[in-house]
Amino acid sequence: MVKPISRISTEIDFEKNGKQVGHLAVPSSTNESAYGIVPIPITVIKNGKGPTMFMTGGVHGDEYEGPVALMKLAAKLTPAKIQGRVIILPAMNLPAVLAGQRCSPIDGLNMNRVFPGERNGSITLQIAHYVSNVLLPLTDYQFDFHSGGKTLEYIPTMIMNVSKDKKREKRTTEALKAFGLPIGLVDVKSDHGGLFEMECEERGILSTNAELGGAGRVDVQTLAWTEIGMMNLLKFFGLMDGKIVTPESQGRPAPRLMEVNDPRSNSFAPDTGLYEHFVDLGANVKAGQTIGQVHFPGNWEKKPWPVKARRAGLMVLKRPPGRVERGDVVAQIAQDWKG
Ligand SMILES: [Zn+2]
Repeated sequence: MVKPISRISTEIDFEKNGKQVGHLAVPSSTNESAYGIVPIPITVIKNGKGPTMFMTGGVHGDEYEGPVALMKLAAKLTPAKIQGRVIILPAMNLPAVLAGQRCSPIDGLNMNRVFPGERNGSITLQIAHYVSNVLLPLTDYQFDFHSGGKTLEYIPTMIMNVSKDKKREKRTTEALKAFGLPIGLVDVKSDHGGLFEMECEERGILSTNAELGGAGRVDVQTLAWTEIGMMNLLKFFGLMDGKIVTPESQGRPAPRLMEVNDPRSNSFAPDTGLYEHFVDLGANVKAGQTIGQVHFPGNWEKKPWPVKARRAGLMVLKRPPGRVERGDVVAQIAQDWKG
């Protein structure tokens, strides 16, 4: 008998025309369920020949905007509306999504650090392996929807990587602009790092990941921009007819291309305590400017400890929870991309 590529099975036929809603059955043998499965939800919509767009959310379980927008998209799309194939996994790390945690409550792993996964590994590794070895070979364009989760908040941003393939990089930039979020971050990464997007890059697949907001919320405005952006991507890549709804036509600026590649982009809490922001998301700060301070309620004679921006630029990310530990990122400062 030929050993299957993955231990995960599904009744979905990826080559069949029409709309199929089902799950990926991940074997999970636990104290509570000896022969159980974890059913990862999947929707596949296919109409004839054409490119395959693969859209994912819930890689981190406390990032809610992507799963919500993708479930709505999966419900809305019909084969008649598209040309090609759309694969949607709204809650790729389902156990983490159900628990509202960044990492899996089953094996403690951060799914976006373990790509390409392992066939016989723990549950998070098995899911990453299935995605890498079954779904990515079908994929032309991959979009992974993240956000800041419970501990961070972004100005809605789409992130792309500098690629060895300059033609693909140019097309990725165009796709990022078509999606239409306020910020586009261009990352220069030196190694794979177990990241989903780097697995796509190594396989020659155009990919980006969005950071839609965060703070444990599903924001009305961000969700609206995301839903418009998803439709724009389908139109941009020719899977759907219709005109792209640009940010300008909604009365807001085109995406601003920026970068946070300098390690000094991040400001960290210098000690454990309560953090007070002096500036908010979208503020322009100077290098050396005090952007907040840590208070010490258990040792109130101690003066608050100031936190300074280590470079000038735009504050694109902040930590909303007031309680901080030494080493937590409290802010990220971006500069315009000059590449
Ligand atoms: Zn994430």
